Amino acid sequence: MKRQLIYTGKAKDIYDTEDEDLIVSVYKDQATMLNGARKETIEGKGVLNNQISSLIFQKLNAAGIATHFVKQLSEIEQLNRKVTIIPLEVVLRNVTAGSFSKRFGVEEGIRLEQPIVEFYYKNDDLDDPFINDEHVKFLKIADDEQITFLKAETRRINELLKNWFSQIDLQLIDFKLEFGFDKDGKIILADEFSPDNCRLWDDEGNHMDKDVFRRDLGDLISIYELVLEKLKDLE
Ligand code: UDP
Repeated sequence: MKRQLIYTGKAKDIYDTEDEDLIVSVYKDQATMLNGARKETIEGKGVLNNQISSLIFQKLNAAGIATHFVKQLSEIEQLNRKVTIIPLEVVLRNVTAGSFSKRFGVEEGIRLEQPIVEFYYKNDDLDDPFINDEHVKFLKIADDEQITFLKAETRRINELLKNWFSQIDLQLIDFKLEFGFDKDGKIILADEFSPDNCRLWDDEGNHMDKDVFRRDLGDLISIYELVLEKLKDLE
């Protein structure tokens, strides 16, 4: 099914297929932070993220969210609809943490009364700067209507995810999404959803996500395995 490598990213390689509307995403074992400044291979991470993301995207599809996910093909591969990625990292925060805490000088762990949606401009040369709606329009990334949709869709996805994770005793602190335009120009959810791009805290406040790598808190694989096992209980 895979044909030619068309893109190689930090966590995934993308191949085209005989069908011009479909691509194959191959999950890699690489972990990066600080925009790739620190890079490590963590054996088994690709398999886990592919399984976790496939499971979440299946549930999102079933809940009526339009996504690029078609099906899981193998331990490390999934079949996705081809999209033109919108160069925005759409971050939603339920609880303060990470760069939000640093930027605004607030401690981590404060519940936000209204979840906050943020945009970062996906541009490695510029280190993915924090931007607002006006910048998004100036850069011609999206218009008012599309910006409104991206925010509303992200909040809708948050409500679903928050509920699923709370059922398995994990608190969804924050996460990053990426969207793309499909062949009809419709905005659909793309990329992945895994502990690499969200924060999950258990009842004791343990980090069950990539902060384990970022902050050297222990063995990432056993923690991602636990998240996957818990998610399987949801079905
Ligand atoms: N995130 C991501 N990719 C990035 C930056 C952030 O997936 O390039 C995710 C991160 O895992 C977290 C959320 O977005 O769940 C918010 O991250 P934050 O802005 O706090 O940055 P960080 O502290 O991770 O550098």
